[in-house]
Amino acid sequence: MPDAPAQRARLLFDPIELRYDFGEGHPFQARRLSALIDLLQSSGLWNPHDQQTALPLRPATVEELGLIHHADYIAAVQSLSRPLAEQTAQERQEREQLLLRYGFADGDTPAVPGMHNVTASIAGGTLAALSAVMGLPEGGHFASEDEQPLHVFHPGGGLHHAWAERASGFCVYNDSAVAIAHVLQATGAKVLYIDFDAHHGDGVQRAFYDEPRVMTISLHETGRYLFPGTGDVLELGQSLGRGYSVNIPLEPFTEDDSYIEAMEALLPPLVTSFAPDVIITQHGCDTHAWDPLTHLCLTMRGIQAQVRLAHELAHTYCQGRWVALGGGGYDLFRVVPRAWSIVWAEVSGQALPAALPEAWVTRWCAAWLEVQAAEDAAQQSMGKTPSAADFPARFLDRPEDFPASPRRWSISRTNRHTVALARHLLLPSSLRQAFPTAQTRSPLAGLVDLLHIRGSDTPSRSVMIETTGGPLILRDFCPPSLVERLQPDSGLRAFARLPAREHQLLLGIARRPDCALTIAHTPAGEIVGEVTLAPGDSWWEGLDNVYEVAIEVSSNWRGHGLATRLLAFALELDALEDMLLFAEGLSWHWDIEGLGLSIYRYRELIAHLFATQGFAEQPTTEPNINLEPANIFLVRVGKRVDQRASAQFFNRVMSSPNLARL
Ligand SMILES: [Zn+2]
Ligand SMILES: [Zn+2]
Repeated sequence: MPDAPAQRARLLFDPIELRYDFGEGHPFQARRLSALIDLLQSSGLWNPHDQQTALPLRPATVEELGLIHHADYIAAVQSLSRPLAEQTAQERQEREQLLLRYGFADGDTPAVPGMHNVTASIAGGTLAALSAVMGLPEGGHFASEDEQPLHVFHPGGGLHHAWAERASGFCVYNDSAVAIAHVLQATGAKVLYIDFDAHHGDGVQRAFYDEPRVMTISLHETGRYLFPGTGDVLELGQSLGRGYSVNIPLEPFTEDDSYIEAMEALLPPLVTSFAPDVIITQHGCDTHAWDPLTHLCLTMRGIQAQVRLAHELAHTYCQGRWVALGGGGYDLFRVVPRAWSIVWAEVSGQALPAALPEAWVTRWCAAWLEVQAAEDAAQQSMGKTPSAADFPARFLDRPEDFPASPRRWSISRTNRHTVALARHLLLPSSLRQAFPTAQTRSPLAGLVDLLHIRGSDTPSRSVMIETTGGPLILRDFCPPSLVERLQPDSGLRAFARLPAREHQLLLGIARRPDCALTIAHTPAGEIVGEVTLAPGDSWWEGLDNVYEVAIEVSSNWRGHGLATRLLAFALELDALEDMLLFAEGLSWHWDIEGLGLSIYRYRELIAHLFATQGFAEQPTTEPNINLEPANIFLVRVGKRVDQRASAQFFNRVMSSPNLARL
């Protein structure tokens, strides 16, 4: 990334974090952090004594922890933190009960002496990191804006499984949730949390399940067989937070290419529609093929792609404000130090060296072989004895060490279905059209030719109309060159939240030959409304001539009858009589919050608007409607559509083959 002032990236690490350790034999050990810091130092990527790139840590206070965690849970953690020898007889008696009640009894997250201070410090670190990039006093004081960090990497953070009222999955306090809650309290900002760990980021999702100012996105191995078991696509958030929890459960043995495809199909449009002020990413590297606890099969290429995309999104959408965290990662010496060095190299804009320093390899290969030998002895392993040749010599992986899974094709196909369902449920159609995936991009590309005035040389129709708000020009088949010359009105932000991005989105749609864009603009060149017509997404695969209609009118131009006239203009072409048109899921699409209408009244208005153009409301098993009773499904069957095609369509509407997956 073009990020010249490297001093604006900082790494937060404090030796106290090395005390977050569950001991020999437990998968979570702090030695992975020692190996990381050693690698950063010996490869010259970071020096802990360089004040310009370090960020100090201070423990989170009990009040700060209390933003997320229940007071009785914090008290229990404090009590369980005291060494047994210092506890009274009564405390020791209560101890068993506390262990059971607060999640410390299952063996995953044992109560360790001193754990309150250590995890409060980790939470304080993430809180300081996020505060620093948000310019809050808890992030520290910086002499000038140039010194205020833009990106912070906190490898000790990312304890994403901790719940408000219990420890879970090696996590005691949820540092991300505490830091996010602090920012919500101190500012009006919206926070995007992206969790790349192989396990579902359940603790952070739970903390903000009904909070529309926080979007959580978790890409993880499906919970069918893996802890914590949650993270289904249909976990979408609740009440006002509906649509702000995003889950992409991936198949076991998913490899880099399929992972990258899923990430790229979802993250840019989701970030566009949410318009966050800051991004936090959790880079648990237990997604790596060598990780002993999970079954995803990423290499360092996939891990590098996560951090590159996060970096790009932070600069494109959040003025660079970005905090990256560690997380899971249980191949302590071969994977974690390399993965998080890759994260830091990207965060700090440094070139990644090719080879690992030889002295570092010697030190940590010895530590690794020792652990392997101990495990082999314990399990009386008959397998091949690991040798120094199995320890990597380079930061990136060698592809030849990771042979393709024979099931690669079917794994990718299943992941593609999961992504399509998530896009279908979470993204308004305009966004899906502006950010097509390789699969939805229609090879036919013929809509413009088909609808348009075949053989005619006028590029688009236009008409001037008078409204109570003033004169407007309506144009169809707007080419990108025209959209570029116009400006979006300030009230045009239902899909992308910010007018400038709405403009980008319209440009994207105008560039697609398989979409038709109709706009309304003022004589001065301000876009105040738009209608898009696009082929139905992969949900409607296999059906011909099925097109989705979406409409948006600037909030400054409502009540002037514009929506009805714009929709009529966009749909009056005779060629449209060959098509099946539908509109759906509208409660997600318009900025209904600003309208002051109940969802039921809103639904009525939409039904009435589309009825003026021959649409009728249809019952359907379509998940967008099924799962959102406030949504509506409207269909218009063109006069020349033959009976067989329409029967096929209505068949699909009532019994989608994809529904079996739900
Ligand atoms: Zn940057
Ligand atoms: Zn994990």
